Amino acid sequence: MAFSLPDLPYAHDALAPAGMSKETLEYHHDIHHKAYVDNLNKLIEGTEWADKSLEDIVTGTFQKGAVAQNGIFNNASQHWNHSQFWEMMSPNSGEMPEALKKAIVDNFGSVEKFKEEFAAAGAGQFGSGWVWLVQNPDGSLAITKTENGVNPLCFGQKALLGCDVWEHSYYIDFRNKRPGYLSNFLDKLVNWDNVASRM
Ligand code: FE
Repeated sequence: MAFSLPDLPYAHDALAPAGMSKETLEYHHDIHHKAYVDNLNKLIEGTEWADKSLEDIVTGTFQKGAVAQNGIFNNASQHWNHSQFWEMMSPNSGEMPEALKKAIVDNFGSVEKFKEEFAAAGAGQFGSGWVWLVQNPDGSLAITKTENGVNPLCFGQKALLGCDVWEHSYYIDFRNKRPGYLSNFLDKLVNWDNVASRM
């Protein structure tokens, strides 16, 4: 069954007061994310992957240790990543639920320290990729960064929070200032209830 582009969980202009413009979401969701979905559907047609779940395609086509990944993986992982990313943001960022706050303090020392480490990892990802807050199989939390479309599913980790650091994610609103985009994301855009629900 073909994959389809999910609607944004809010209006295209809903995140503008929090620093992500309507224009960014029109390009990022309607054009970039749609292209991943369309390419994925074309690439899997008539293959063993045509009837598999998105998660199975991502983990089944990931090539551990490869310098470059294959087309099916790239488009499947980016479809998964972006589908999570839209849900991880909200026009009403809200307070961090207590259970999540406690887990973050236990693992990183403080919320501030967590934000600093997350932003530094995202700023330090050379080229395109993602920065993540993940939960390991043993329950511990960690911050990771991945290149291009690679994501926590590839390593058996749960993605609690992910931030897209491809230039298409921030260039309209922040130009070349990736650190500014990351700190704005953490302070104003994250849907902390959604992050907590993933633990
Ligand atoms: Fe993106």
